[in-house]
Amino acid sequence: MTKFVVTPANVAQRDAWAGGAIPEVERVRPGLWSVPVPIPVNPLRYVLVYVLELPDGVAIIDAGWNTDEAYDALVAGLAVAGYAITDVKGVLVTHIHPDHYGLAGRVREMSGAWIALHPADARLVRERYDDAAIDSLVERERELLRRCGVPELTLDELAGASMMIRHVVTMARPDRLVEDGDELGLPGWDLRAVWTPGHSPGHLCFVSPARRVLFSGDHVLAKITPIVAVHPQSGPNPLADYLDSLAAVRKLDVEEVLPAHEYRFLELAERVDTVMAHHDERLAEIERVVGSLDGAACWDLATRLTWSRPWETIPPFMRRAANNETLAHLAWLEARGRVRRVAGEQDLWFPA
Ligand SMILES: [Zn+2]
Ligand SMILES: [Zn+2]
Repeated sequence: MTKFVVTPANVAQRDAWAGGAIPEVERVRPGLWSVPVPIPVNPLRYVLVYVLELPDGVAIIDAGWNTDEAYDALVAGLAVAGYAITDVKGVLVTHIHPDHYGLAGRVREMSGAWIALHPADARLVRERYDDAAIDSLVERERELLRRCGVPELTLDELAGASMMIRHVVTMARPDRLVEDGDELGLPGWDLRAVWTPGHSPGHLCFVSPARRVLFSGDHVLAKITPIVAVHPQSGPNPLADYLDSLAAVRKLDVEEVLPAHEYRFLELAERVDTVMAHHDERLAEIERVVGSLDGAACWDLATRLTWSRPWETIPPFMRRAANNETLAHLAWLEARGRVRRVAGEQDLWFPA
């Protein structure tokens, strides 16, 4: 195995992240910039927006949340690279989550840029971000949580837990749909889309074989593993999708990974192996707990797992994610015949 060697710029970005600071706007390669756009009240702190120079302007990968602070940071970052917001020709969105997609509509309004998204995420836009449709989504989330055995008293709090962040997204329909393997056709760039469902159904990575970089969105990050959860808008077995998508990017011959959070890094294959091993351990732990209880609901299982902090101190939004992540692992184990679900008022989980 080759040793982990970091480039000087890489060290600066990583050090800023480790020190709790926002990294500098950076020229990552000739014609390629990284612009940190702050996310308010979120431990991730910022999204790294990538600016790709074109003969007549720029394309950006991801946009940030729809706040004035984020917009101003994006405009300031573009200025460091020598561009104005009106120079943005296209916004390639890795996935529908508000920290990536939220600001895309405002950028289009200011610049006339197109917005590109994978069809599997484009399909979710209306239900997720349109006021007229949101009630049905909350209702489906409530039903999912109820079947998981979430206590009646906490149901409402949990089902509506993400409503508070909806104002950081403008509802913008994409202008371009990008599928697996599509060449983006940006002048001067050999950029190709890699569909990587799991974290979201339509998550996209973008690879440039000539520059040997992978824009990995939230799919592969240096330190954290993205949430992979069953929820009303997910497929039935998102963890299987995610692990397949990891295997797909592991094969790519790239030098550096340019993720949407934390910092850029080398050694894609090594990181993918670590993330896969993490899920293997998690699956084994969940299988053990299912075996020890012999007929428990997902929520009860989730409260007994190891989390980064005691269950009682986890806020509602994160508890829902924890529950839905546990459900994703259960669904994976069920598909492999390692656990058994008995459907009812509440779904109960048994050893196979
Ligand atoms: Zn995300
Ligand atoms: Zn993200």
